[in-house]
Amino acid sequence: MTEGLPMAVPAPGLPARVRIHEVGARDGLQNEAETVPTAVKAEFIHRLAAAGLSTVEATSFVHPTWVPQLADAGELFPLVRELPVELPVLVPNERGLDRALALGARRIAVFASATESFARANLNRTVDESLAMFAPVVARARAEGAPVRGYLSMCFGDPWEGPVPREQVVRVCRELIGLGCTELSLGDTIGVATPGQVRALLTALNDAGVATGALAVHFHDTYGQALANTLAALEHGVTTVDASAGGLGGCPFAKSATGNLATEDLVWMLHGLGIETGVDLARLVATSTWLAAHLGRPSPSRTVRALTGTAADPSQEETPS
Ligand code: MG
Repeated sequence: MTEGLPMAVPAPGLPARVRIHEVGARDGLQNEAETVPTAVKAEFIHRLAAAGLSTVEATSFVHPTWVPQLADAGELFPLVRELPVELPVLVPNERGLDRALALGARRIAVFASATESFARANLNRTVDESLAMFAPVVARARAEGAPVRGYLSMCFGDPWEGPVPREQVVRVCRELIGLGCTELSLGDTIGVATPGQVRALLTALNDAGVATGALAVHFHDTYGQALANTLAALEHGVTTVDASAGGLGGCPFAKSATGNLATEDLVWMLHGLGIETGVDLARLVATSTWLAAHLGRPSPSRTVRALTGTAADPSQEETPS
């Protein structure tokens, strides 16, 4: 084994290549307590691109009072838009879309919920009201030639409603495809899913006419299931996987350090399976370590910790005497 890299042993029935949709700069930073200066965010995105990530979600054009951590979207995007990678941005409504398009955004994402409770909590709307709000956003983005990713949160479990019925998830997925979304990201927002549940949902979506090629998965590691769930999705044929550099983002619904699947942990598994990602793991780890210093807390990623010899809990770290 080369130091710092897994031994590559391919397994049957898996894709040759996976596209990682890096969400650290948006989903990660929006859920961190510390607000990072715009220049640091820009350097972070440049470093992620230099580490080989081909899709780097850059920011969110939401109203600053909703997400103060990303209030600088208008200043940040011009600092990264020339990078030779895909730079999707999240927009909540037509006003956000106008701002994003005016600054040169060429890929758009909207954020929907599979459950009424989360739609109410996050969007202050019913599921159907939020879909009605997205309809003109998706239509106009597509008319401008921009692909639109639809995030769907709470696809497996909901903190208020418990397990989420598959039919409910399938219904909202079909609505989002009907609006014109070109890709759906199935979110396990509270990290409770297990691999059988993942297979069952993917199969139900296929049965309802949603092709696997239009699906991405977005797992959280709250219960340690993110990589097992990812492997189940790969075996089903999914080739787009969301992850957050260094595991940025914590968990908004549990008092745990682990939320988003860490990109480094994902890359370790994929490269170990002989699956191409284009990512240089050492450069990615260096990027996450650099950003962790700005945030003042170590990365929760197991792979970052293993490759850098850092402890999960700062109180366990050796201090020079
Ligand atoms: Mg997430």
